[in-house]
Amino acid sequence: MPKHPLIAGNWKMHGLRDGLPEALAMDTAARNSRASVAIFPPSTLLFALSEALNARPEPSPVRLGGQDCHKDTQGAFTGDLSAEMLKDAGADMVILGHSERRHGHKEACESVAAKTLAALRAGLEPIICIGETLDQRQEGLTHAVLSKQLRDSLPLALEGQTFHVAYEPVWAIGTGHVPTDDQVIDAMLLIQKHLAQRFHNQVVPHTLYGGSVKPDNARHLLSLDGVDGLLVGGASLKAEDFNRIIAAAD
Ligand code: PEP
Repeated sequence: MPKHPLIAGNWKMHGLRDGLPEALAMDTAARNSRASVAIFPPSTLLFALSEALNARPEPSPVRLGGQDCHKDTQGAFTGDLSAEMLKDAGADMVILGHSERRHGHKEACESVAAKTLAALRAGLEPIICIGETLDQRQEGLTHAVLSKQLRDSLPLALEGQTFHVAYEPVWAIGTGHVPTDDQVIDAMLLIQKHLAQRFHNQVVPHTLYGGSVKPDNARHLLSLDGVDGLLVGGASLKAEDFNRIIAAAD
């Protein structure tokens, strides 16, 4: 874990304005940590959170991000948000290709790649997610699936840009099932090899693990080869849990 670990909290479709104190408590933990901390709230909270964090006496180290974006800047796309809109609301990162988008919204790798270009255009730092389903793993397809997702979701325009890749086995998300150490390390090394072969970036991308990360397993997961950070879902909603995960990075 050579870099400052990146601890990212994906709130998904959770959180109302009365939850802002949770984020402020996370900000306090982030100030005392060597980790980089990012929160991905629902878009409705981005602006309020950005204002609340910026209103603190010292600038907040917590970065904010969107959970998805449209590939276009603007247009007749009911319900969608552009990368520029997220940026305008206070985001400087965005999660793309999360399995709940790939599977729940039938997003293809090519769409993730187009959204990645949009993120770069708007000045958002993308975290691009990949991961195999349980069936794919059981059929021995993990390497093929991850390699295809990397090849087709990561545009060459990422060369020279700051970005991150999260390995999130679909079967580990929200299930309490965590892959074995060997399975995590194997996926991380595959990702890092791909990134080294395709991109020659000065800022080496963080490779994150995500899927049922909890306060009790965070430190161990962060100790595994190739794990530069964590993408956390359920355990990022409460400061009590998320702050213990942030502390695990120290
Ligand atoms: C996620 O949605 O990115 C995730 C990893 O969720 P959870 O931590 O709840 O498994």
